[in-house]
Amino acid sequence: MLNKTTTVYRANSVTEIQTLLRNISGISVAAGCTEIARRQTGRALSLPTHVLSIAGIPDLCSVTKTERYIDFGACVTLASLLELGRKNLPEVLFDAVSGIANPAVRSLATLGGNISAKGHRLSTFAPLLALDARLEIKTPTDTYWVPMTRFFSNTGKEQPGFPECLCRIRVPVEQWDIALYRRTGKPCLVSDTTASFVFLVKTQKKVLTDIRIAWAGKFFFRKREFENLIIGRTLPLSEKYMVNLMDKSELFFDQLLFPESYNRACFLNLLEDSLRLLT
Ligand SMILES: Cc1cc2nc3c(=O)[nH]c(=O)nc-3n(C[C@H](O)[C@H](O)[C@H](O)COP(=O)(O)OP(=O)(O)OC[C@H]3O[C@@H](n4cnc5c(N)ncnc54)[C@H](O)[C@@H]3O)c2cc1C
Repeated sequence: MLNKTTTVYRANSVTEIQTLLRNISGISVAAGCTEIARRQTGRALSLPTHVLSIAGIPDLCSVTKTERYIDFGACVTLASLLELGRKNLPEVLFDAVSGIANPAVRSLATLGGNISAKGHRLSTFAPLLALDARLEIKTPTDTYWVPMTRFFSNTGKEQPGFPECLCRIRVPVEQWDIALYRRTGKPCLVSDTTASFVFLVKTQKKVLTDIRIAWAGKFFFRKREFENLIIGRTLPLSEKYMVNLMDKSELFFDQLLFPESYNRACFLNLLEDSLRLLT
């Protein structure tokens, strides 16, 4: 039961999305609606007055793979991502999706909805952040590509001046020697302590050529400056260097960015455990 009148507009194509964004003031995008449903607290459904349903638009439900990147339509369901199999997806993305909710929810839930959810960052956010994903965004009059780090912010760029719809997520195809995904909090549910940690490492002839460390929960970060400290090092890392790195991590992930909390302790433990794989 709805608690007020809601009009749902169903777009059948990407062009129709833009037309509806342009013509219906205050319209709000919905895909699988599982996150919208999860956030309901009352007995009656509370939805915005105008809802734009984009689930099922064929263009947004496809996955295309080239030599250089994989393009995910924003409405690809989590179930269909899993059907592609671990070897056809970045491992950390596959691992993140496997741990989300249950098969019934995953058959409706979309990748676009997972990263667009406001407030708490959900399970695929950190993997896509670490993988340097780029997003295709449609506004009422424009289409543009933007790196994920620039589109989202921790300080509430949640209310743009005009409505926007995420249409595609582009992930570069790269081989990683270490690809770790870990989540905190209760499995298969979202709670206050839910967060994701990703650690990626690339090496060549015992030299560490790339490293990515991402975290997403109540807020998200990647610290390129910290990653750059380690890139170029010869492996294995010495114990002395490890201690030095962990000391520096306290400065890079300072208490202003990441206040003392259960999640901060989890992050520092996960970071140390992952870096120890390089010793
Ligand atoms: C029982 C249960 C357990 C869950 N467990 C987990 C879990 O373990 N981990 C996890 O990550 N999530 C979990 N979820 C949350 C949710 O199912 C997923 O995050 C899902 O991927 C959200 O996708 P959706 O298509 O249903 O999004 P929707 O509910 O349709 O939308 C979510 C938000 O994103 C916006 N949005 C959606 N698509 C777009 C788009 N293309 N462009 C712009 N904005 C958009 C909507 O406006 C809305 O604000 C759970 C949900 C339930 C009900």
